Amino acid sequence: MPEPAAGAHDGAAETVFTYGAPQLKYGDGASDEIGYDLSQLGCTRALVVTDSRVAATGLPQRIAEQMTRFDVEAAVYDGVRVEPTDESMQAAVDWAREHGPWDAFVAVGGGSSIDTAKAVDLLLTNPGTVIDYVNAPVGGGRAPAHRLHPLVAVPTTTGTGSESTTVCVLDVLSQRVKSGISHPRLRPTLAVVDPLLTVTQPAGVTAASGMDILCHALESYTARPYTASPRKQPEQRVPYCGANPVSDMWSTQALSLLATSFRKAVRDGDDLDARRAMAQAATFAGLGFGNAGVHIPHANAYPIAGQVGDFHPAGYPDDEAMVPHGMAVSLTAPEAFRFTFPASPERHLHAARLLEPDAAEPADDASALPDVLTRLMRDIGIPDGIGSVGFGADDVDELVAGALKQQRLLATAPREATADDLAGIFHRSMALW
Ligand SMILES: [Zn+2]
Repeated sequence: MPEPAAGAHDGAAETVFTYGAPQLKYGDGASDEIGYDLSQLGCTRALVVTDSRVAATGLPQRIAEQMTRFDVEAAVYDGVRVEPTDESMQAAVDWAREHGPWDAFVAVGGGSSIDTAKAVDLLLTNPGTVIDYVNAPVGGGRAPAHRLHPLVAVPTTTGTGSESTTVCVLDVLSQRVKSGISHPRLRPTLAVVDPLLTVTQPAGVTAASGMDILCHALESYTARPYTASPRKQPEQRVPYCGANPVSDMWSTQALSLLATSFRKAVRDGDDLDARRAMAQAATFAGLGFGNAGVHIPHANAYPIAGQVGDFHPAGYPDDEAMVPHGMAVSLTAPEAFRFTFPASPERHLHAARLLEPDAAEPADDASALPDVLTRLMRDIGIPDGIGSVGFGADDVDELVAGALKQQRLLATAPREATADDLAGIFHRSMALW
């Protein structure tokens, strides 16, 4: 019998990382070519998945019409809920099952549309319901047994990176928690990133979704390195393998792009160069975190968004209270990075320098990144901490309980975060400046 390979036994450190990405088409006008791209994939009947606000711009319909020139029949489903829930995704799945069959899906919109399209694709090619596939312990943690149909993701808001990732995020209403479905089969086949589509994004959306980009880059750059995990067997490999040289490259490039474009894109939405840089930053950050993973700010964002009381952010539909994903992620980020600083001081300092190269010397090194973040958040109109979106000290226990449900994310943190550690981060994040 051969000896086991070196390191392939318990206790040995990981030596392997993986990198996955969709095909990418980037640039002004890239979205004019989707019909051709689908025809090249052999597709004949595509469902365009979007929300009513994006549908009102006429863009999804234009994309659908463009497909017919290439003999791809298309219909538009515009019932996506912004910040989707298990129920809204199931409704989309039921609609698609009723009006199928489809052999391709095209998501046009923000992360909500792309994530809903992932769920629709998953459940039109695999049996069961949405909750069966949601990460355990919130859902059934089932893995798709069959391949999915081609999914083309066309982001119209820069931020989520959903066009690059294997994840779809949703609110599970009965448990008042945000969770996700995560599997390599969920990664879109093709990401079409057309900066011209983001020009109409309101300033509040640019600010919140930009903070999401920023946190994707920062969290993947500071994630627990892949070498810190025990060696896995091939069948145990997960899409998020921790910081690695390839994800580091994308994450740091995203930070440099954000440093020069983020404030400009919020201040002047018609600044096309700033929009192009933000679209690139979102793509780069997605290609980084889509492999490395994210950690404490994202784990905390789930209960912040899921337990919102009565907060209505500017730039979003105001019929429902919400803390948009990127805003929810950012609100505890400064304190989360103060907490993770000791795990890799040089990475935290490097990230701060990339984001604000001429920043004044901080009072202490651990404050460098939190200071850069809070200055930026204040400049672009992000609320001053979780207190400003309606949370108080009495809510911390429930927020901690919600964050602790995100074990998949917390496992990527460079330092173990206990319930007490998380409570401290939430308390210190009530007001940030
Ligand atoms: Zn995010």
